[in-house]
Amino acid sequence: MSGTLYVVGTPIGNLSDFSPRAIETLQTVDFIAAEDTRVTLKLLNHFDIKKPLVSYHEHNLRERGLMILHRIQAGENCAVVSDAGMPCISDPGEDLVRLAAENGVPAVVIPGPSAAISALCLSGLSTSRFCFEGFLSTNRRNRQLHLESIKNDPHTLIFYEAPHKLCATLSDLRRALGNRRISLARELTKIHEEVLRTDLDGAVSYFADKAPKGEFVLIVEGAPEQAEEQPATLEEAIAAAKAMVENGMKATEAARLTAADTGFKKSEIYAGLLK
Ligand code: SAM
Repeated sequence: MSGTLYVVGTPIGNLSDFSPRAIETLQTVDFIAAEDTRVTLKLLNHFDIKKPLVSYHEHNLRERGLMILHRIQAGENCAVVSDAGMPCISDPGEDLVRLAAENGVPAVVIPGPSAAISALCLSGLSTSRFCFEGFLSTNRRNRQLHLESIKNDPHTLIFYEAPHKLCATLSDLRRALGNRRISLARELTKIHEEVLRTDLDGAVSYFADKAPKGEFVLIVEGAPEQAEEQPATLEEAIAAAKAMVENGMKATEAARLTAADTGFKKSEIYAGLLK
């Protein structure tokens, strides 16, 4: 008889957000798979829960995932938790749920807060359709390709970012997406919770002489609808390709992407880049 995998959300700051059902689940499972056992131990101590912990993080997903699966298949119940928020959302859990699904092991969610949805709700931007983009890659080219691929997306965009990378990311967003409205949600559910609603230019200058501190979610307005948009001029297309090259992209790749976007020939744009 197989046990069950419980996917348990934990607070993103305020411990009062831990639900009675989540507490009860952690009290009754046989063991807990935790992203960082030290962080989870603090949570368990606060709620006086005593349970065996196994570490389950991005560097041991494969072998630990199988070990956890085998224990559940042998009849144990397991809760997977991350350091804060919902497992599986820019956090470990996705592979474990996939393994469970592939092997006919029941999985149950015990929902808790997620920084992405909480920030979206406070943004004042459209919540009817949105796209979760997670963390942008630290690899320059991947980051650029990612931003290129979403610059025409009309849905509200959600990004996670670490404070020490925030300023660079705001500048990259401004360069790739143009000046759009943005809401920066900081330290949600904590004492210093704050929401800054501005535009990308405003956000860049806000942090020009103020180091960002704490945890941030960025909610960026989607691209304006393009239904009747005039095609760019060749000069504009070349300028857009130049900006990509200045950001490290190869001229041929920039010409190809811009050509696909604007309808001008790749060779015309490439020739303009070489001038
Ligand atoms: N799984 C988590 C969730 O469901 O929200 C997200 C984990 S991800 C590794 C961590 C990122 O979430 C942080 O870098 C930050 O962007 C965002 N975050 C987490 N807690 C936050 C908070 N209290 N306020 C604002 N952003 C937060």
